[in-house]
Amino acid sequence: MAEHESLEFGKADFVLLDNVSLEEFMANLKLRFEKGRIYTYIGEVVVSVNPYRAMNIYGRDTIEQYKGRELYERPPHLFAIADAAYKAMKRRNKDTCIVISGESGAGKTEASKYIMQYIAAITNPSQRAEVERVKNMLLKSNCVLEAFGNAKTNRNDNSSRFGKYMDINFDFKGDPIGGHINNYLLEKVGGGVFKCIFQLVKGAPDAQLRSLHIQRDPTAYTYIKVGGQIKVFADFKAVTDAMKVIGFTTEEIQTVYKILATILHLGNLKFGSDGDVTLIENSKLVSVLGDLLSTKDENVEKALLYRTVATGRDVIDKQHTHQEASYGRDALAKAIYERLFCWIVGRINDIIEVKNYDARVHGKNTVIGVLDIYGFEIFQNNSFEQFCINYCNEKLQQLFIQLVLKQEQEEYEREGIPWKHIDYFNNQIIVDLVEQQHKGIFAVLDEACMNVGKVTDEMFLQALNGKLAKHAHYTSRKLSPTDKNLEFDRDFRIRHYAGNVAYSVVGFIDKNKDTLFQDFKRLLYNSSNPVLKAMWPEGKLRITEVTKRPLTAATLFKNSMISLVENLASKEPYYVRCIKPNDVKSPLLFEHERCKHQVEYLGLLENVRVRRAGFANRQLYPRFLQRYKMISEFTWPNHDLPSDKEAVKRLLQGCGFEHDVAYGKTKVFIRTPRTIFSLEEQRAEMV
Ligand code: ADP
Ligand code: MG
Repeated sequence: MAEHESLEFGKADFVLLDNVSLEEFMANLKLRFEKGRIYTYIGEVVVSVNPYRAMNIYGRDTIEQYKGRELYERPPHLFAIADAAYKAMKRRNKDTCIVISGESGAGKTEASKYIMQYIAAITNPSQRAEVERVKNMLLKSNCVLEAFGNAKTNRNDNSSRFGKYMDINFDFKGDPIGGHINNYLLEKVGGGVFKCIFQLVKGAPDAQLRSLHIQRDPTAYTYIKVGGQIKVFADFKAVTDAMKVIGFTTEEIQTVYKILATILHLGNLKFGSDGDVTLIENSKLVSVLGDLLSTKDENVEKALLYRTVATGRDVIDKQHTHQEASYGRDALAKAIYERLFCWIVGRINDIIEVKNYDARVHGKNTVIGVLDIYGFEIFQNNSFEQFCINYCNEKLQQLFIQLVLKQEQEEYEREGIPWKHIDYFNNQIIVDLVEQQHKGIFAVLDEACMNVGKVTDEMFLQALNGKLAKHAHYTSRKLSPTDKNLEFDRDFRIRHYAGNVAYSVVGFIDKNKDTLFQDFKRLLYNSSNPVLKAMWPEGKLRITEVTKRPLTAATLFKNSMISLVENLASKEPYYVRCIKPNDVKSPLLFEHERCKHQVEYLGLLENVRVRRAGFANRQLYPRFLQRYKMISEFTWPNHDLPSDKEAVKRLLQGCGFEHDVAYGKTKVFIRTPRTIFSLEEQRAEMV
């Protein structure tokens, strides 16, 4: 139980609730939010509510208060979790990870930054420049990734449209020596609303804009016009500087901005037709693109208007229809943005990766991983992206279930205490619905995409209905026209562990296939700009050599999720569960229904139950004595019993709590929170 917290602020740990009911849970969450206590524990899980205001709880002094302390000794805080992970790593040589989840705008990215900041602050007792360098790199790379991976959405002004998993490697002394970043599914919005594009248009120096043929007016560009009113970002310089500090060359940085400019110009390209000839109406732009992409204008024009197809042994140039040309243009804009983002991550990794570390000399290098990934999304219109995101959350929930239960179970085993199984909803069935071979939704989608000839989203839906009609978590509008649980109905619905979501099939086929014409890949590969060329190695293939189908987006995503989960499962996990109190970014408003829904789908109540089904509290014997020895004559000021364990037994017998506790090898386990309360009360009377 956390110290220094009076009950006026509610219970610092949900495990201490008198009754585990949704009502009590919500009442405690609300009370704490209103009192400015944004963090609450469930055992070792931190529940965080976005305060939507600056909190004075992240300073140097607070960091000092958490450094090296045990979880329950201080009020709940992210720093306590970060410290626990750091200690596990340092003391026990364990790889750990911190999984931060919650919906968009709930505060995940902020939390991950505070955690990184904490870890950076408490490391490096020695004055080594190398440690400083790595820390600085990790923090700077955040700045760059945010510029390129974040967009303004209606839910969050600064929404990460990618999932990020960052490993920080530590040497045997506990100092950071490097890191690695993985990113997951960057939403393909054609780069339109991404921050970096606005930073460029609004913040780049005049001369640079001129060289990119860009006007300082976002409304001049089709792709970003729809992005809505965006506040001025003055961060252009900060991001450019961060790239320099990380170690991007001048040529690389220039190429990055050329690519962003290319995307803006592409959006303004208009196609027309003259008879059955497709042409580009604003052909001036073709030479602008030729300049930015360092290639001949005629190559640009050809790639935009034709595609090369192999018919038997012959290779011919087939002209696009007007529609195909527009489609190709948008696919190109999306693909180069996505590739740019992956390339940036790759470059950062090249630079921050651990180098020259010899485990035989220095001992094992340990890792703390931080996962900041999009939470469950339920919109009016849910498409392929939401489907992937929600699948990802099913996977993480599955991991959470396994690990939290597993961890409890293992601790009881280790300590020699009998374990009682408790029931919970196991969402493996939904994970299977999505990812199972041959039968799962991804498999059905991939199969549809493999068909030759024109495949429509509608055909995909039919295939789904054919295969999944009987599945307990799948329904579709065709098969059962009304679903009263849904405010907005769409083509098919999934009963996720977090609630019902209706998906529209529109775009599934397209988004799943790698739709970029090979001609574009060749165009980019043949650029005389070496940085750009290196981003598109597959453009090297001639048309007759392209035989293997590229993996589909669904398969790539599934594979990356499976390996992510494997990776997390191999580490000791810590969890931060973020809750968004309202949709208007208000620091005062606790929207009951909104919050309740999140508490439900995050499975927090089950979490409390699991935690309580076992023991609400556990403490190492010496620690326990340190805190409570003054309440018993047998232990105060010192005991003369053969062991601390015996002393704790004696103390608890004296208080009449024998029935409520179990004695493990190194820890005492206390079943009900009341006992802790009572101990705390008695302690308060003595001190
Ligand atoms: P997510 O990553 O979950 O989508 P963010 O971490 O970007 O959400 O948070 C959204 C916004 O909420 C932030 O830009 C910030 O204004 C506010 N916010 C989140 N966490 C905190 C915090 N701990 N203190 C103050 N403001 C916060
Ligand atoms: Mg975020």
